Amino acid sequence: MRITLPILLLSLAVPLSPALAQETESVTVAESLTGLPAQDSIVDAIYATTDDEMQVEEILTELVEGIGPRLTGSQNLTEAGEWAMAKFKSFGIENVRMEEWGTFPVGFDRRFASGHITWPIKEELVFNTRSWTPGTDGPQRGAAVLAPTNDEELEALKGHLKGAWVIATSGTYSPRFGSGQDELRDRFGAMCDEEGIYGVIRPSGKNGLLRTSGNYRLEYDNLPTRVSILLFRDQFTTIYDFLKNGERVELEFDIDQSFKEGPIPQYNVIAEIPGTDLADELIIFGGHLDSWDGAGGAQDNGTGTSTTLEAARLLMKAMTEQGVQPRRTIRFMLWGGEEQGLLGSRAYIRQHPEENDRISAVLVHDGGTNACSGIRTTPNMMPLFEEAFAPIVAHTADAEDDNLRFRLVSAARLPRGVGSDHDSYLSANVPGFFWEQFGSANYSYVHHTQHDWIPQVVQAYQRGTARVVASAAWRLSNMNQAVPRDDMGQRQQRQQRDPNAKRVGVYLGEGMLINDLVSNGLAAKAGMAKGDVIISVDGKKITNQGELGRTLKGLKKDSAKIVWKRGDKLMAATFDWKAKTAVTTEP
Ligand SMILES: [Zn+2]
Repeated sequence: MRITLPILLLSLAVPLSPALAQETESVTVAESLTGLPAQDSIVDAIYATTDDEMQVEEILTELVEGIGPRLTGSQNLTEAGEWAMAKFKSFGIENVRMEEWGTFPVGFDRRFASGHITWPIKEELVFNTRSWTPGTDGPQRGAAVLAPTNDEELEALKGHLKGAWVIATSGTYSPRFGSGQDELRDRFGAMCDEEGIYGVIRPSGKNGLLRTSGNYRLEYDNLPTRVSILLFRDQFTTIYDFLKNGERVELEFDIDQSFKEGPIPQYNVIAEIPGTDLADELIIFGGHLDSWDGAGGAQDNGTGTSTTLEAARLLMKAMTEQGVQPRRTIRFMLWGGEEQGLLGSRAYIRQHPEENDRISAVLVHDGGTNACSGIRTTPNMMPLFEEAFAPIVAHTADAEDDNLRFRLVSAARLPRGVGSDHDSYLSANVPGFFWEQFGSANYSYVHHTQHDWIPQVVQAYQRGTARVVASAAWRLSNMNQAVPRDDMGQRQQRQQRDPNAKRVGVYLGEGMLINDLVSNGLAAKAGMAKGDVIISVDGKKITNQGELGRTLKGLKKDSAKIVWKRGDKLMAATFDWKAKTAVTTEP
């Protein structure tokens, strides 16, 4: 442990109060890299919140059962955005907005869907339709017809396709619009359109999961016209076997879903708790608000959304009661368009390139109900995160369920390529994290399937996650330094690191105090040492890290004179980033 005894005695969480500043000076601050107190009254308050006082379950229920599935481009998603804004505001967060990131060409809304075998047996069907495909025109009852496998069967179907439900297995020819690639299949497709089938039914995968997907790139005057049904495999087999045995089968579907002429504006929801001395720096927590619409999106991503909201509520409550504010601005973000390719987060980053340098890190929750009980950390981040997460580790160490015990997971690189919104930030060279999740839930069983409803959610994990996110938001916002960017993983460095960026080569603490030196960095060459304090760059007084970064970035030449203080003594060196030298000079 790096935390010394005198620091442990500090229990105040207000990094800015003058009393604390004095106290901090009287102990050996250099022992604490982050400047964070080992014991933190805000984290204590968050963990003192009892299970009964937690609201995450109600929040999830309002979202998933009250609003429902949230496909991008649907009315429900817009409603969910407005609901989330109202929630954030009700927690006392004032800076809340929905920001448009783009539009979808066509809107799509589902209301209800039912399906039955009506002959020779009566059975309710478990099925799904693709997103952005048409429903039925009221209840449509018709014969089930096996798709042909050869010319002879195709000929036999002539005149029998009007009002039919076509049963297509992988061994048959599913009808399609003429693509010219498969003559028989194209002819069958043309026949289906000419005679007017009701729709096409395909079986779900062997595991019985009805996975929802679809293509949103539509034109309103050229919409898909075929009802496209994915049927639970066992029921599909029942129908198939009847037909194979020459039995007549009749099916009825009543599917109410509709298109809406676009462009439909799409939004990200943003809520900010303003920071104090580092207010222009951001630390971001969130997940995507949109879902696929084959179920309620309880775990993809109602769990990420509800725990983000509950974390915001817990944190605001504790801060208000203790009268404190974070140093960095804490932003909660709920993105849209994630399921169609991280569209909301990517667009936001494109539209706000100036923000990227000011973001310390982005932590995304999009892995379902299992508890966010860990975070990946690379070697340079480890000492910082050990301090930042220490109170969370301490508060969860005795949890009965070890899935709730928080741990740092050491890794060579950050979790790139997971396929969630943090990836958008990693691509912009901003440290992006995807929580490490632990628990008994099987995410692949619910993810994008008919099972993604609340009964599969483990509420104890939800509460654990909300406490972790709230506490992490507070701790990371108050670190002396931003999360380092020089250690996000090798691939990152090769691809993204700007080799021409001007760096001093120090880890900084509060008030430009040098906590540590990057080995072989220019600061080491200049003779800087731990405990020194950086004063100015080319005569410009520097008081915080953001200012240092911007000043170095704004330099019009390859070198600059940096002045620092050791005790009462001023020292200086000329840093030359092109020559990679740092030569001492008169201060
Ligand atoms: Zn997701």
